[in-house]
Amino acid sequence: MSPRGNVKAHITDWLKGLPALKNPGILNSNVKPTLPRSMILPQIHYPKYEEIEDPNMIKAHVPDLIRPYKGLKDVLENNRKWANADSLREIKFFETLNKGQEPKLFWIGCSDSRVVPETITQLGFGQIFVHRNIANQFDANDFNCMSELEFAVHYIKVEHIIVCGHTQCAGVMNACKDHLSPNLKAWLSDIRRVKDKYPELFPDPMIESSMPQSEKDKLHRRLVEINVSNQVSKIASNEVVQEAWKDKKRKLAIHGWVFNIKKGHLEDIGVTIGKQ
Ligand SMILES: [Zn+2]
Repeated sequence: MSPRGNVKAHITDWLKGLPALKNPGILNSNVKPTLPRSMILPQIHYPKYEEIEDPNMIKAHVPDLIRPYKGLKDVLENNRKWANADSLREIKFFETLNKGQEPKLFWIGCSDSRVVPETITQLGFGQIFVHRNIANQFDANDFNCMSELEFAVHYIKVEHIIVCGHTQCAGVMNACKDHLSPNLKAWLSDIRRVKDKYPELFPDPMIESSMPQSEKDKLHRRLVEINVSNQVSKIASNEVVQEAWKDKKRKLAIHGWVFNIKKGHLEDIGVTIGKQ
């Protein structure tokens, strides 16, 4: 077997050994807590560098989720190994990237390090035009938001704009806290205004501290959805989008999604506006 064949066989065997990949249900929260911890959290064996014949080869295949940060030197080395992988060179991957981009999706998401658009959608390079900020806001007074919207809609001509919030969003959770810095207070003002319309989502701290976690999670989830829905409405009424919609043939829809971190699921909250 060729060296590459060996590596492929090695990876295949390794992946077969991951119970969570073969049967995602094993990580389901319904698993009874009385089960031994080893059955809930499968023992994953990560191949060490020394065990792999061609490290460059496997760096292009191993899922991102297993790579911890070990310092900037390591980050640059990771990049070189990835970029020099035979599998990418053979298909002239970078030559293709160099030709340009025609993404159909414009993603407005949170800056949270756990919500990585390309990874959770399993789309590749050149497929998503991305804007991220704290708590996935769209602010028409922000040059960054507006220039990206204009570029995405008028020049790239994307067909879908996705506002993606997520559970466990610190930006949303802390938007109404008094201790916020002036910049954060200003940036999250849109969420702060939600409090006037939905006071029930902001219980008194004393009451909140005695609430079961499941109830707190429900309130947070609802606030995350309202925040996403508000951003979708603002984008739909923005002049850039309105101008694009004057062309009756133009496909352009705005969607609201939530990434459920606990499950890993992207969930459509059903607030789509526009032609799909
Ligand atoms: Zn967030």
